[in-house]
Amino acid sequence: MIVVMKVGSSQSEIDGVINRIKELNLGIHLSQGEEHTIIGVLGQTFPELQDMLRLLPNVEDVIPIGKPYKLASKEFHPQNTIVTVKDVVIGGDEIVVMAGPCAVENEDQLLSTAREVQAAGANILRGGAFKPSTSPYSFRGLGLEGLKMLAKAREETGMPVITEVMTPGDVDVVASYADILQVGARNMQNFFLLDEVGKIKKPVMLKRGLSSTIQEWLLAAEYILSQGNEQLILCERGIRTFETATRNTMDISAIPIIKLQSHLPIIADPSHATGQWNLVSPVALASIAAGADGLMIEVHPDPNSALKDGAQSLTFDNFQHLMTSLKPIAQAIGRKLSSGGI
Ligand code: PEP
Ligand code: MN
Repeated sequence: MIVVMKVGSSQSEIDGVINRIKELNLGIHLSQGEEHTIIGVLGQTFPELQDMLRLLPNVEDVIPIGKPYKLASKEFHPQNTIVTVKDVVIGGDEIVVMAGPCAVENEDQLLSTAREVQAAGANILRGGAFKPSTSPYSFRGLGLEGLKMLAKAREETGMPVITEVMTPGDVDVVASYADILQVGARNMQNFFLLDEVGKIKKPVMLKRGLSSTIQEWLLAAEYILSQGNEQLILCERGIRTFETATRNTMDISAIPIIKLQSHLPIIADPSHATGQWNLVSPVALASIAAGADGLMIEVHPDPNSALKDGAQSLTFDNFQHLMTSLKPIAQAIGRKLSSGGI
């Protein structure tokens, strides 16, 4: 952070700023030109410091330099994070596909989907047991029963499972069934939940909030990392914009931005980003071309009768078709599809 003093500041005003910085146990680097005096702040700063210093007499501006997050940044952690779940490696050279229904509805629905997506090449089974819903009248999931069905599907197929956790109090029970815990878009800034999933020893996938900037998303990741859980995956699932033709707007550029700024793996979710099944495959292919480490895709045996997100769910045939189209795209960028979990 650097403090720029107004032209004509007196020595006592400059000293006032220097003393305040030193009182906070931070160091200074003074640069006094003919007109301007600039004071560099050295050491671990914090967001409120900017306002504290700006209020001091004759301070012209206070400019933060560097990123407000540290553990999530590539600068601090240059080597890419690789998250391994059973034999599935996320964030390495290979593309990982997570697929399954939006919500676990019953055993048949889940098991038939698990078998079909696995046969088509998916590596990880997804399915919501605790469902966040905008409307309280929507299906809110089977809860514990749903978790048990996920565990049964894993036992039958050998695929690791990912499912959402919505409250800090549910973290332990969800962690006892799931291989990866998902923090949904609506909970990206549920800071007590972030703290709790930061304390467990299982991988977590943090979805981007509906209206969150990339910086806010990486600060949410910082909460989890700072509690000690480094097995963290990010997921871009579209953001809210003025566009109404799609459910959300897929922020494709977030994928290479995350790759430039962070070491964390990134998964793309074209299902929630678009909200329409016939847009899912093109956006999935674009996401892989843009550098995503994998995909999360909603698949249902009969999307027309799905209890949740039927409009964006792929049929088994459409999912298989997507998996076939993915191969040449992965190859074109020097990657291939993972065979883990299959
Ligand atoms: C989901 O994955 O089913 C889900 C609810 O996603 P999001 O949190 O991105 O809306
Ligand atoms: Mn869904």
